[in-house]
Amino acid sequence: MDLTPLENLATHRLIKSIGPEPLGNEFSGPVLAAALKGRRVSIKQAIMDAKVVAGVGNIYASESLFRAGISPKRTAGTVQGGRAEKLATAIKDVLNAAILAGGSTLKDHRTTDGGLGYFQFSFAVYGRTGEACPNCDCDISSTSGISRLEQGGRSTYYCPRKQR
Ligand SMILES: [Zn+2]
Repeated sequence: MDLTPLENLATHRLIKSIGPEPLGNEFSGPVLAAALKGRRVSIKQAIMDAKVVAGVGNIYASESLFRAGISPKRTAGTVQGGRAEKLATAIKDVLNAAILAGGSTLKDHRTTDGGLGYFQFSFAVYGRTGEACPNCDCDISSTSGISRLEQGGRSTYYCPRKQR
């Protein structure tokens, strides 16, 4: 724990390199685009980097990219303009939905009354290898449905047809 005056928060040594809170007013398409500019890692790994945006975990990274129609394999620096706008909106929407549904840690999450977090039941792509994506008009016999790949040792799920 550390105490610091509010006006020094943005320059505090433990805080200054952390990106904006995704649900805060300072996070937007242009802010995300600026943070991604020139980055050569995949967009999936970039949005899990707290220097780009704080607190987007592995599940929400996959879900946000699906909503935004962006391939997790796309080079982060190419997510600019309208794409960055869509992705920033998708991240906010997914996190808000998760909060409303009560969280989603898969193995040991419990609500305060001991129940299970249940956002896991409404994942669009996470953990759904081989299934159709929501509102899917993809031809599963040719796309094999939702695909899984590993990026930085973490599982990523995506629809190879709808995400470019
Ligand atoms: Zn699909």
